[in-house]
Amino acid sequence: MSRIPLIAGNWKMHCTIAEAVSLARQVASSAKGLTDRQVMIAPPATSLAAVSEAIQNSSVLVAGQNVAWKEEGAYTGEISPLMLRDAGASMAIIGHSERRHIFREDDAMINQRMHGALAGGLAPILCVGETLDEREDGHTWQVLEQQVVSGLEDIDKSAIEQVVIAYEPVWAIGTGKTASREQAQEAHSFIRDLVGKLYEKRLAEQIRILYGGSVKPGNVDDLMQMPDVDGALVGGAALQADSFDRIIHFQ
Ligand code: PEP
Repeated sequence: MSRIPLIAGNWKMHCTIAEAVSLARQVASSAKGLTDRQVMIAPPATSLAAVSEAIQNSSVLVAGQNVAWKEEGAYTGEISPLMLRDAGASMAIIGHSERRHIFREDDAMINQRMHGALAGGLAPILCVGETLDEREDGHTWQVLEQQVVSGLEDIDKSAIEQVVIAYEPVWAIGTGKTASREQAQEAHSFIRDLVGKLYEKRLAEQIRILYGGSVKPGNVDDLMQMPDVDGALVGGAALQADSFDRIIHFQ
């Protein structure tokens, strides 16, 4: 089963509209002609519409950095799936470690967001990953299992093909410390086996599992060699057009 690699850039809380449009145009130009992989960018909500319009003729996918579970209503500060689609997004990042740890989003809320995204026609990227303490205490598998099982709770097998999972060890995000390719492979294979147990092996073979955590031009080729690493979720290095260009051209 061959899975199309996905390289996703998470711009977090960076870029004015003008900066975002300029960076998005450079990404679109870098991605031109790439047919054996997908490229996605997640600009801040304020620039989603302008970015989508600026790169509408390219193959680059646009994502929200989070998504609500209702189409509209009294949810101050939230952005609905309908609004994201209206702004040109086709995907949404959900459960990023910054949402879990800084904004205290829990597994139940993340699961609601997953359902909201899928019902609203967006492909979700479910982020999971252990903290350094959890790894050092030997709890990595327990944490990953809890986050994957809760994140996917009540998601029908007909929808699972749209889901992407990102393994992002918290200790590797924005720290410059990358998981070794063996550590990434071990976690990805654990997650794939788990999806196989929750659904079926055939679906587990189809689901894409991205690695995130200090992915850079210098380590992407190595990580992408691993059989269960189907792409990358890139933070810091996605904000520089030249480094993201090198990452999307991984070999
Ligand atoms: C991220 O934000 O998902 C991430 C992995 O960040 P960085 O690449 O900067 O570690």
